[in-house]
Amino acid sequence: MKKEELKKIIIIVVCVAVLVTIIMLIKSCDSTRSDLKKIGYSKDEINTIMEKLSEEDITKILNMDYNKNLVSIINEQYYIPYNLDRYLAYANKNENIKDVISVVNVGADNEWYTNTKETNIDEGIKMLVNKFHYLKEDYLPDDIVPISNWYAYEGHSTKKEVYDKYVSMWNAANKEGLRLLVNSSYRTFEDQQNEYDMSNDDYASRPGFSEHQTGLALDIVTDDIIGNEFENTDEFKWLQENAHLYGFILRYPKDKEYITGYNYESWHYRYVGKELATKVKESGLTYDEYYAYYCEYKKAC
Ligand SMILES: [Zn+2]
Repeated sequence: MKKEELKKIIIIVVCVAVLVTIIMLIKSCDSTRSDLKKIGYSKDEINTIMEKLSEEDITKILNMDYNKNLVSIINEQYYIPYNLDRYLAYANKNENIKDVISVVNVGADNEWYTNTKETNIDEGIKMLVNKFHYLKEDYLPDDIVPISNWYAYEGHSTKKEVYDKYVSMWNAANKEGLRLLVNSSYRTFEDQQNEYDMSNDDYASRPGFSEHQTGLALDIVTDDIIGNEFENTDEFKWLQENAHLYGFILRYPKDKEYITGYNYESWHYRYVGKELATKVKESGLTYDEYYAYYCEYKKAC
């Protein structure tokens, strides 16, 4: 056989193989579509399922009854593929699909303080500490410096970077006739243990689970006004508009208790750096949600 002929034969064989593969793919796709239809999914729902779910997830769906929540779940902006089973389970208990996504993403479909993980401290100022992420007893942040009494009540300290940014923020607020004051800051594991022993889960974090152990959290109030009343001050209003410019976010916003695990705290600010603080503020998400989606899933925060 001549070289040329052999070449032709090889080309024909390859073409036939490619064609057969394509036909088989189309056929299997068609049979998946018709199987989904048999379960009860509409044409639009099938299009979404085929477009957005992996082959593995589609196989799973084919072994289940029709689920009216499925397509709403996978169409949500903050849908994370590896949470699919938990979304479907939690949607049986909660009709608001947006909430289902938020709750499952942050792990709050579990009881608080269960299924806990150690905080990844290598993430530095981005690290997440909440009721599912804890710091070890011996975790001591470096660069802890005292806060001058000019800016705080007596005896407070925080990380140097946080202090510097807080002072810049303090000065900017002060130029507008406002006076910020720190009334809680860095706490060691032992400090938190003592606080928790004198209180309970409704009012104090368990030791290891408090953001104050990071040295990145400050409770900011003003002269004589602490607690829930702080929300009504001009200082609070100013922080709402400007805190992110100095790298701070309001960590436990109103009506997000079921996501953060904490009652609304108008005074608790967390330093994450200006860039991230701005992104979190613009997203309208709690830091727990932002972290779950952008830092943990997208690996882009
Ligand atoms: Zn606090």
